[in-house]
Amino acid sequence: MPTSKDLLASPVTPGFLDGKAALITGSTSGIGLAMARALAAAGADIVINGLGNPDEIENLRSELAQEFGVQVIYDGANMLKESEITAMVQKAADQLDGIDILINNAGIQYVSPIDEFPAQKWEDIIAINMSSNFYTIRAALPGMKARNWGRIINLSSAHGLVASPFKSAYVAAKHGVMGLTKTVALEVAETNITCNAICPGYVRTPLVEGQIEEQAKAHSMNHDDVIRDVILAAQPNKRFVEVEELGQIAVFLCSDAARSINGSDLPVEGGWTAR
Ligand code: NAD
Repeated sequence: MPTSKDLLASPVTPGFLDGKAALITGSTSGIGLAMARALAAAGADIVINGLGNPDEIENLRSELAQEFGVQVIYDGANMLKESEITAMVQKAADQLDGIDILINNAGIQYVSPIDEFPAQKWEDIIAINMSSNFYTIRAALPGMKARNWGRIINLSSAHGLVASPFKSAYVAAKHGVMGLTKTVALEVAETNITCNAICPGYVRTPLVEGQIEEQAKAHSMNHDDVIRDVILAAQPNKRFVEVEELGQIAVFLCSDAARSINGSDLPVEGGWTAR
């Protein structure tokens, strides 16, 4: 356990995650990919996961490994399927000698009034955005406990703290992630494992690009007006969060300086939930 004197040094000295392994779900794109890059830059071996074109994913995997000089493996487990999730965690732990850092990031969105919301979309959003977190944590935690060190970071959302209309499944799943985060945090509180949730506001990734398109059509507005007056209406700083900001927050949560942050939600939303 580092002393308080050790903590006077920067909590994130280069290579401080050497020898650790991180599994990030949904890391073939957007926030997950930025977190994979940030953790690899700090020295961690990486398991990437997510959907996409196999050749592009292989390029991504080998580029990450080359750029940061770490091991990077890919697992295409579908976050809708419990058996694939559990197998991914076990396989990754075997290959990388344990999973020390788990980031539950995979997510999808669907926007519709609740009385028209397709049941299958509800089921899929609950499964991918919430239940997959339960299955990865359940599979990865015994190894963390055995090594008495671990970091679990769940990608919730400002929508895990407050609601917006037409996002019933997403808001329900992200609020559920907050409850899961707090429960796991209490269960590991006496160990060197922490479990926290990051709650971003709007981040410009493919998940949000789709919403900009839909809203522009629905309101017959141009893209810039949709971004300012619809998408960023609730985000007081009126700019998107950059994926790199979230990558660095994940790195910080893995540091010793963050070892007493447990069961927290970290809003990264330009003041949205301060209202
Ligand atoms: P994204 O669409 O860029 O990435 C989503 C990732 O999840 C991709 O890698 C995709 O392949 C993967 N994925 C989707 N379905 C999957 C499945 N069934 N199995 C395995 N992987 C699957 O989205 P993003 O914006 O980077 O979102 C990442 C996370 O951050 C999500 O949980 C999202 O809810 C959350 N978030 C995003 C924003 C935002 O504004 N973009 C804001 C708050 C929270």
